Amino acid sequence: MKVLVINCGSSSLKFQLIDSDTEEVLAKGLCERIGIDGGMVTYQPEGKDKIKKQADMPDHTEAVKLVIESLIDKENGVISSLDEIGAVGHRIVHGGESFSSATIIDEKVIKAIEECNDLAPLHNPANLIGIRSCQKIMPNVPMVAVFDTAFHQTMPKKAYLYGIPYEYYKKYKVRRYGFHGTSHEFVSKRAAEFLGRDINDLKVIVCHLGNGASISAVKNGKCVDTSMGLTPLEGLFMGTRSGNLDPAILQFISNKEKLTIDEMLNILNKKSGVLGMSGVSSDFRDLGEAAHEGNEQAKTTLEAYSYRVAKYIGSYAAAMNGVDAIVFTAGVGENNIEVRQMIGEYLGYLGTGVDKDKNNIRGEEAVISPDGAKVSVLVIPTNEELAIARETVKLVG
Ligand code: AMP
Repeated sequence: MKVLVINCGSSSLKFQLIDSDTEEVLAKGLCERIGIDGGMVTYQPEGKDKIKKQADMPDHTEAVKLVIESLIDKENGVISSLDEIGAVGHRIVHGGESFSSATIIDEKVIKAIEECNDLAPLHNPANLIGIRSCQKIMPNVPMVAVFDTAFHQTMPKKAYLYGIPYEYYKKYKVRRYGFHGTSHEFVSKRAAEFLGRDINDLKVIVCHLGNGASISAVKNGKCVDTSMGLTPLEGLFMGTRSGNLDPAILQFISNKEKLTIDEMLNILNKKSGVLGMSGVSSDFRDLGEAAHEGNEQAKTTLEAYSYRVAKYIGSYAAAMNGVDAIVFTAGVGENNIEVRQMIGEYLGYLGTGVDKDKNNIRGEEAVISPDGAKVSVLVIPTNEELAIARETVKLVG
């Protein structure tokens, strides 16, 4: 079956058409600046160069139309008609407590996703627009919602409750939800397969280190804890997000700088993390370069980042009373040799570490811990689109 995977943001739409039998990506692309002047569609059929086309897209329905046009284009298309698309898989950011797995989309599901809008005001409404737009263009194609939060729904209460009055959980469902769940699930399963171990008898710590970053503790295939919270702001500090901090800092800085809560949150989401700390960039490649050129603040930022990741690894080893495998994934985890090496320096007490030679790889599956280590350290590239396509096929058969 050919599955169209859609990841819809407020002004963008990413897509991949995946043949679920071969798991091959037939084509992929991105619509940018939807609803804004200067729209751009990037389309890349398998084995060919990217094609960029300027096109104003007043709304997401127009963007979906252009995606379909590209896919069925005579010269560069990869299917001959819309009928070849067997299903659409939508990435949905927040499923709240309503969804612990992917689900076929119907009106009831749409309503339940809408009810989570409060929890992810920037993402869920955009995801819903994506669903509605696809329904308009492909009314007879089955669609599936795959939630970023679903995999983490197995967390026990002791892991997801915050130390605040319980009434806020009861009234507003304020709790830890966690994100990147599709990636954490995909990578933990793949790590077990790669090691030839049974996932149902394995303790894995997945470090999803990308521009957004989160860590999870996966015991016997189920998530027992994760670092992101009610929103993706909690946990590690990231490309531009602050991660954990003393909540009183909000009041302190907002008083000093005369900022509103919204302005403060914008700073914590968009101007903090490695960008804010280093003053260099949110991109780890720039940060690495600056550190090599002797920029002390860039060096300190890389040290602080690795230290924070190592502390989470320690706490999740404690949470699971042990760990069998530590896995690095996403942009930084898959590619940043130096950061992995720095984190590895902290793992000696677990009877493991990162072997310099084995670690000299990018973007491929590999064990990077020294021979005979008690805990395997691995790199496993994530593939959220493939995971969404697999879930979609499972449900629509
Ligand atoms: P993601 O959000 O998963 O796409 O990850 C983006 C992050 O991965 C950025 O900070 C990039 O600097 C980092 N990254 C991607 N490729 C490399 C690379 N070859 N070396 C170091 N960092 C990389």
